[in-house]
Amino acid sequence: MSLASLYENDPVYQQAVQQLKQAAAILGLPDEVVEVLRHPERLIQVKIVVKKDDGKIATFIGWRSQHNSALGPYKGGVRYSENATAGETVALSMWMTWKNSLAGIPYGGGKGSVRVNPKTLSPRELEELSRKYFAAISRMVGPDVDIPAPDVYTNPQTMAWYFDEYSKIVGYNAWGVVTAKPPELGGLTARVVSTGYGVALGVREAAKKWLGGLEGKTVAIHGFGNVGSYAAKYLAEWGAKVVAVSDTSGVVYDPKGLKVEEVMEVKEKTGKVTNYRSGDVKVYSSDKAVFGLPVDVIVPAATENVITKANVNEIKAKLIVEGANGPTTPEADEILHKKGVIVVPDILANAGGVVMSWIEWSNNRMGCWLTDEEALARLDKMMTSNFNKVFDEWEKKYKEYPMRIAAYAIAVDRVVKAMKLRGWI
Ligand code: GLU
Repeated sequence: MSLASLYENDPVYQQAVQQLKQAAAILGLPDEVVEVLRHPERLIQVKIVVKKDDGKIATFIGWRSQHNSALGPYKGGVRYSENATAGETVALSMWMTWKNSLAGIPYGGGKGSVRVNPKTLSPRELEELSRKYFAAISRMVGPDVDIPAPDVYTNPQTMAWYFDEYSKIVGYNAWGVVTAKPPELGGLTARVVSTGYGVALGVREAAKKWLGGLEGKTVAIHGFGNVGSYAAKYLAEWGAKVVAVSDTSGVVYDPKGLKVEEVMEVKEKTGKVTNYRSGDVKVYSSDKAVFGLPVDVIVPAATENVITKANVNEIKAKLIVEGANGPTTPEADEILHKKGVIVVPDILANAGGVVMSWIEWSNNRMGCWLTDEEALARLDKMMTSNFNKVFDEWEKKYKEYPMRIAAYAIAVDRVVKAMKLRGWI
């Protein structure tokens, strides 16, 4: 049995390896380099024993995968999910390596997970689980080693527990060990809006390049959680017409444009965007209806695999900017590319969260804090210049491929160059 068998058979891991191989083929990288890159530098599995409120004990399993550190300390979130596996964790850590490389921030890639349905735990049990998970991985992390952050079902409160646990172990306030902390503990309030803000910046820059600007362009957004709602808010502020948004309750569509702040309020109060009523608003019961609407831009900002072979031909938009991770299947990607639809890929478009994490981490280490405006201005400057660098390099060097493959190629190339310079390969 191979040493890698803990993750090799996982389908998500296999998808990540397939993407790596496509990028390697464009770059002409030999198989032996792919072999180096497809494995994490370190993968740790930990056992977490929680004393439940009813006096019973429950055992959970968790991982931290440190994929590559050629460009800097490992960086990436921790997710709590009952479907978490070692393979998914390794795949996600590899995607963080590419995302961070492409974003031009001085980090490698890492990801953690705990196989748990957090909704089955009481707040006290969840705190115990979080503290024990972090204590278990504490010797592998640190402000210069590996810097976790939130992901699915973890949040600033989780980061506060991680920070406290680690600080108690090392004996000082180690601000830089996690990011997206609450503002009272060295975090930035702007972190909450940062992923959606970054996605909106991606739409703005791509619209300048391919749609003649953002002003008056119609946008449909799939998913109205943290990423989708803030992307919608900023796009509307910057002159786009957000005509449709969806959540699991369905779609609200008004060709004259939705009042985004009001939709946010309705969603906040009632939990459903479909309770929004105004003007000529039309309601569809299937969230997927969003993809067939006559719009200029679609932002998938919910989950993976929503643009597939089955619905890709309904799409009328000329531009798709991915707020979610993996919303477009490889087959749909190919079809969109042939039809000339521009897809700004997830690892480029949704990096706003981790870029803001880097700003927070830099602040923590300098001991001085930026204001919200300063932090967002910094994010804007970095993401805008990064989008344009990637767009230009795609057009110059990799135009025959979808932008996604080009983005991977650029990201992998940077990591490989760093590894060569360091004498690793
Ligand atoms: N979990 C987020 C991501 O996947 C943020 C990671 C971070 O801030 O380190 O990009």
